Amino acid sequence: MRLAECDGKALLRRHGLAVPRGVLVHAGESPPDEAAAWPGFVVKAQLLEGGRGKRGLVRAFKSLSEFRDARRLILPALEDANTPLLLEEAVPIAREIFVAVRVDGSAQRLELLLAPEGGENVEAAGKLARIAIAADAPTTPEQIFAALGKLFASDLAARLARYAARLPQIARQEDLTLLEINPLALTADGKLIACDAKIVRDEAADFRHDPDDFAISRRLAVQAMTELEREAQTLGFQLVETDGDVALVTSGAGLGMMMMDLIGDHGMRAASFMDNLRGAPDETMTERLKIARALAARPNIKAIIFQTTLASRSLAERIEALLAWLAGEPLPKPLFVGIAAGHAAARKMSAEQAVERLRAVGVSAFTDPVALVKAAARAVGRA
Ligand code: GDP
Ligand code: MN
Repeated sequence: MRLAECDGKALLRRHGLAVPRGVLVHAGESPPDEAAAWPGFVVKAQLLEGGRGKRGLVRAFKSLSEFRDARRLILPALEDANTPLLLEEAVPIAREIFVAVRVDGSAQRLELLLAPEGGENVEAAGKLARIAIAADAPTTPEQIFAALGKLFASDLAARLARYAARLPQIARQEDLTLLEINPLALTADGKLIACDAKIVRDEAADFRHDPDDFAISRRLAVQAMTELEREAQTLGFQLVETDGDVALVTSGAGLGMMMMDLIGDHGMRAASFMDNLRGAPDETMTERLKIARALAARPNIKAIIFQTTLASRSLAERIEALLAWLAGEPLPKPLFVGIAAGHAAARKMSAEQAVERLRAVGVSAFTDPVALVKAAARAVGRA
């Protein structure tokens, strides 16, 4: 789950990191009177996307009376006029620094990233320190300091090392896959203040956290979903709609990625990506097919590809359930079925027998996923 900036900053504050004073202002509301005493102001739209500064969704001003004008400038650039705004005291930034902790997927550990030039153009910044974080030992400021030597003057490097050393522990406790602070502001009087927060929490760890936390982020995430994506979630699996011409039905993410690539290699594009919720594959074949049928009703969708791969669930039962489902309402576009089954799954019916059974009733079925995709490509005129 991606946290909105205001929720991300609340998380940082809970862990004792400095963030600017701020207050959420919802549509139609006015800022609270006490804000008038702040030295200056920044107002920021609370969206789940970054790059807001460049899109004019972050505005600075001197007097609270300018709030209305700032809001008027931001609103036209928003899809949803009810997007909450975060009003903060302006921090006098002497220097913008980039710091992040993220999961390094290939090394299977956390890594710390620090760049001496943060802010909106961080991608263009050349220098970056990457520090691997050991899983079994605490990260010490000394280790980080050693890696920062060339990028910062030594007094600042020491202060940043102490700051950054706290972040991996926060990421672990909060089950974060990303904790990015950009800019981390260094003020003229030497304070480090997190002026922005981009935080992503691993959804598989949701059960460890308060379900009522981060209500704004949850609401924004639901708003950003399509109707079918929301329906899929209530049916028990995850759907991401993509721009494509083939409705793709798969279960695990690995298989889904492989099929998306294969489809792409054959001149088509998948219009859907499916994954399991909570890591465990619930039995949701007919629910997934139902979503595929809805997708296939769209004129731009030319075919449905259903790849099923069974390890231990019975293939024979899967095929009977599929045939029963197909006997219902007809599909709006041609269906191509791929079948793979391990020993346990194939006890009563092998993948080859399943293909025969399906072909006998006119369903295009394959044991080889490449043959499956090639057949679909021929059918939609891409081969
Ligand atoms: P993003 O563009 O979505 O990452 O939004 P940010 O929250 O990072 O804001 C964009 C830019 O506005 C930052 O990179 C800063 O340069 C600037 N900014 C944000 N907050 C403050 C602040 O309190 N004071 C000052 N001077 N600049 C700020
Ligand atoms: Mn930022």
